[in-house]
Amino acid sequence: MAKINIAHFIENTEVEGPGKRFAVWVQGCLRHCPGCCNPQFLDFIPKTILDSQQLCSHIKTSQCDNGIEGVTFLGGEPMLQARGLSEVASFCRKIGLSVMVFSGYTLEELQKNDIPFTEELLQFTDLLVDGAYDQNKPEKERNWVGSTNQRFHFLTNFYKDGIEFDERFSHSFELRFISDGSIITNGFPWQVVMESNRP
Ligand code: SF4
Repeated sequence: MAKINIAHFIENTEVEGPGKRFAVWVQGCLRHCPGCCNPQFLDFIPKTILDSQQLCSHIKTSQCDNGIEGVTFLGGEPMLQARGLSEVASFCRKIGLSVMVFSGYTLEELQKNDIPFTEELLQFTDLLVDGAYDQNKPEKERNWVGSTNQRFHFLTNFYKDGIEFDERFSHSFELRFISDGSIITNGFPWQVVMESNRP
């Protein structure tokens, strides 16, 4: 049972992939793309450490409570925590949930197998969005991605090619008003921003 260093998660969101999803942002990324939407998630520092079984338990609860159709892994870089996430993805598959992964690495880079457990995570991934964000190539047409160089790979037939253009999911974001006065936003282009109204 591997540990996962989690920057943030949302049990039920409709803007991080098709349908209702449990979204997990992992902590840590080597790329440091200019204009990255989540610069606070790039450093390799401990945040919320859960083992894969604990995360699976949260996901199962959301499936029962919210009827989610899948999970989305974002970051940070999910492939750098592929061991734990592959265990979670395997569990999700078993309970009928789809798995979507955003990676700053291209599929070709991942297939070189230089990063441990990427093969396992890809094995349980239905929809991979690959490639590092390029702020000089802003995406205007497709759902969920920030730049035109990023590609959708339909690794199973769970989703149909073209869903990235489906207007039902077109560029949107969510606002959450938390009881402590803070506001959390997420969504296009997959940023998470936490602001506090507290003095
Ligand atoms: S790969 Fe993604 S998370 Fe990493 S720096 Fe680039 S945009 Fe940010």
